[in-house]
Amino acid sequence: MKLLISTALPTRWGPAEISAYGERENDESPYLCLAFGQVDPSKPVMVRVHSECFTGDVFGSRKCECGDQLDMSCKQLAIESGVLIYARQEGRGIGLVNKLKAYKLQDQGLDTAQANEQLGFPIDMRTYEKVAFILKDMGIKDIRLMTNNPDKLEALEEAGFNIVERIPVQAESCTFNMAYLRTKRDVMGHLLDLEE
Ligand SMILES: [Zn+2]
Repeated sequence: MKLLISTALPTRWGPAEISAYGERENDESPYLCLAFGQVDPSKPVMVRVHSECFTGDVFGSRKCECGDQLDMSCKQLAIESGVLIYARQEGRGIGLVNKLKAYKLQDQGLDTAQANEQLGFPIDMRTYEKVAFILKDMGIKDIRLMTNNPDKLEALEEAGFNIVERIPVQAESCTFNMAYLRTKRDVMGHLLDLEE
């Protein structure tokens, strides 16, 4: 993996510098990094690792909270400065089409974890080596990580980063995503504070 390009990107949250990292020059699915404000890697840096969710990020799907989390994170990063890494691991790594197949199974009564299993996939196939590569490439060592996911904390600690703080990214629950959020909390151990 290598840095392919960095350039300025004005966003609705504020000015950012966007960088694309890929395996080859015309990588069709590059990892993206949005750096808001002056990121000083000699100090702890606020970081959000957001895994791609086409339906949530682009179409505002209410089956999950990804779109809201992306919006909340970028808003906060633009205020305090920091880095969003957009990891191309759609559907927790199973891909968009398989995720939609899992949605169909969920409509038949399975939860998000059971649906993945029925399709022959683990609950979560994501890995964080590429994320670690990008953070190291940026010279970042100490991280204030915006996450509810203990696996992400552990993965980045194992990759040698010092997590100085966990900042929760709690989106509003709604009738459509409540069951999904409960599964995330109860089956996947996410640190969520949900209304019952
Ligand atoms: Zn999502």
